[in-house]
Amino acid sequence: MTAIGLEFDQLQSSVEALRRSLSNRLMYGVGKDAVTARPQDWLHAAALAVRDRLVERWMITTRRQYDQDVKRVYYLSMEFLIGRTFSNALIALGIHDQMKEALASVGVDMDTVLDYEPDAALGNGGLGRLAACFLDSMATLGIPGFGYGIRYDYGMFRQQIVNGEQVEAPDYWLRYGNPWEFPRPEVQYPVHFGGRTMQRNGHVEWIDTQHVNAMAYDTVIPGYDTSATNTLRLWSARADEELDLSAFNQGDYQRAVEARNISENVSRLLYPDDSTMAGRELRLRQEYFFVSATMQDLIRRYLRTHSTFGRFSEKVAVHLNDTHPVLAIPELIRLLVDVHHLPWDDAMAHVRRVFSYTNHTLMPEALETWDVELLARLLPRHLEIIFDINAAFLREASERGAHDLDLIRRISLVDEYGQRRVRMAYLAIVASHKVNGVSRLHSQLMTRDIFADFARLFPDRFTNVTNGITPRRWLAQASPPLAHLVDEAIGPRWRSDLFELGALRKLRGDAAFEAAFRAAKRSNKVRLAHRALQRTGIVFNPDALFDMQVKRIHEYKRQLLNVLHVITRYNRILEAPEREWVPRVVLFAGKAASAYRMAKMIIHLINDVAAKINNDSVVGDRLKVVFVPNYGVSVAEMLIPAADLSEQISTAGTEASGTGNMKLALNGALTMGTLDGANIEIGEAVGQDNIFIFGHTSDQVDQLRCAGYRPRQVYEENAELRRALDQIRTGFFSPHDTARYTDIFHTLVDWGDHYLVLADYSAFIEAQEAADQRFMDVPAWTASAIENVAGMGKFSSDRAIAEYARDIWHVKSIEMQ
Ligand SMILES: *Cc1c(COP(=O)(O)O)cnc(C)c1O
Repeated sequence: MTAIGLEFDQLQSSVEALRRSLSNRLMYGVGKDAVTARPQDWLHAAALAVRDRLVERWMITTRRQYDQDVKRVYYLSMEFLIGRTFSNALIALGIHDQMKEALASVGVDMDTVLDYEPDAALGNGGLGRLAACFLDSMATLGIPGFGYGIRYDYGMFRQQIVNGEQVEAPDYWLRYGNPWEFPRPEVQYPVHFGGRTMQRNGHVEWIDTQHVNAMAYDTVIPGYDTSATNTLRLWSARADEELDLSAFNQGDYQRAVEARNISENVSRLLYPDDSTMAGRELRLRQEYFFVSATMQDLIRRYLRTHSTFGRFSEKVAVHLNDTHPVLAIPELIRLLVDVHHLPWDDAMAHVRRVFSYTNHTLMPEALETWDVELLARLLPRHLEIIFDINAAFLREASERGAHDLDLIRRISLVDEYGQRRVRMAYLAIVASHKVNGVSRLHSQLMTRDIFADFARLFPDRFTNVTNGITPRRWLAQASPPLAHLVDEAIGPRWRSDLFELGALRKLRGDAAFEAAFRAAKRSNKVRLAHRALQRTGIVFNPDALFDMQVKRIHEYKRQLLNVLHVITRYNRILEAPEREWVPRVVLFAGKAASAYRMAKMIIHLINDVAAKINNDSVVGDRLKVVFVPNYGVSVAEMLIPAADLSEQISTAGTEASGTGNMKLALNGALTMGTLDGANIEIGEAVGQDNIFIFGHTSDQVDQLRCAGYRPRQVYEENAELRRALDQIRTGFFSPHDTARYTDIFHTLVDWGDHYLVLADYSAFIEAQEAADQRFMDVPAWTASAIENVAGMGKFSSDRAIAEYARDIWHVKSIEMQ
């Protein structure tokens, strides 16, 4: 690329320069003047002023990438849970205070306008948020990378609580436009469906298809304290003009428009659950839609600077965030073999060097499979390719000594039991050079249980990369008081090297620092109490212990165990109100998948229990229960800095890693946790004295299930538990609908209690008592909270991304000088 001498402004970061940019962007970008501008207009103008500054870095980075002919990472994910961008960009550019001042100088309060920015909620929960943290870290480390996904018109639904129940409202996040994205109508690829295959001149052709176009929208991802940036490229469906015209020419205008709408549906909606497959065919179409466009795009980019595919796998790494993008494998093979006419073996060799895959769940019901008949109808060529990969793989396996027919049947990419289905995780394993789990325990269980056969066949393929979170968003941005305190104590370098937090240990026993730490936490709690009062009308005491369980509502995460503790505590308070109680505010937040009946019932129960307790005058300040609606990234940024206690209480062996646990510990909350996912590693990092571990280990869970777990026996033998469960069953919390929760009761007592809630109940109650004791000892609690912050170095997503870059992708940082 030759640099043509374009002249542009080289925008400065002074308050004066920002103020001028603001005026320019309001005038020329938004088309308003200061008299008529609403807060949204100011936000839009400010976003454009910030974006202009990012674009300069973006251009420089792109040019460097070309000049250095770098290897690029393509991070494929169905979900990117970005949240808001404005504050994040200000922090990355280091212009937060200047922008605040510039806005103030034109009479605009930045904190007020900030709240007008909608969350980009293109994800359900942890998996999508991980992808967002990883983009931030890739940019910060200068790893040349792209995020690729879908630009859903409707992201995660907005959750309202009406009479205690979840009601879902559509989230049309693009209503006021999105100042952060660049539409790229010139970057469009056709994505085909249906049709059939035929042989011609020794090549397979896929013909008689229908297609929709994928159009790119680009967002700049700034790195922190570097001019390196990356790109998030999201695809949006565009109906093909020609297709419409034929109907239009026949005079059927309405049909033309309808056909358009139907084909554009593919990027309309984020599926409101990442573990069950709703609307199967449309979901499959979405998966193929975005990986096909992405593979076409990466080939085009590669061929711009290379004339043959000889160095393809030296220049390209493709990462599959869970199995949703696995169709990228047969799609890349199709493009290389059918379109670019590479020999099959060469294409396969490239594929295996290029792809890597992260597994996110051990739960068999969440492992994706696709019906062979559906694939045959929608993607006939890809099905042939999958069969060919399978045949070659099974041949290779038997050459390596797998003669056992039962084994061959178990590892086949095609499940032949009953209706034939393709096992997407197996396809990912067979075609990747690395497969990783997301915490040490999860990676161990993955190779011991669900992928044991593959781990024996390919022992070097499996590895672990424990998840991480970006400290920029989850401490610098979410908790200004604590971030400032840490800056004063140890300097600001922790933002790009989180191990620096270890230096806080030097302040052990420093009474002034401990007092300042408490004050910082307290101001976060006051901020939350204030917000909660506005939104829920509930008054609570900022000096109470803030006990938080904020995450998707799911039986395996065991919000029910937490509710049983709340009820038990309530009963105990009523029995001895005069005792010295540690005041607690128990906060819940989280969305339930719209079709997940039990999860919705749990939300209802939490709200019914909250109503009863909060209105009981005997209880008063001793216990409050709050369900904060519409959990998402921005709500998390408000809640997490105010937590004292972090509930991470999944049944051991079910939570692959968790990242909420890391965010909370980084903000000085003590973990109340099972030995599950990353909780184990958090305990090692912060010290076992600074975490409350309880309950069955994953081995004990297995043993208990094998030995024949009998929850009814637990129920009968524990009077306090029995009382709490009977209150749920008999309508104590739902007096106008006494049978409302009988299914919850039966699930726990009579229908097997699959997640072992009752088995862990008494250990949980004891651990909660220990937490009360510690909280009463103010210096001891503060010391533990500080140890938590100090120990979090390992849980930066920068560390995780550095491991991926070194061990899996084999990519280097770009040189910016
Ligand atoms: C971090 C995060 C999650 C994941 O939380 P877990 O406790 O790990 O399940 C989910 N949703 C949002 C909005 C998050 O920020």
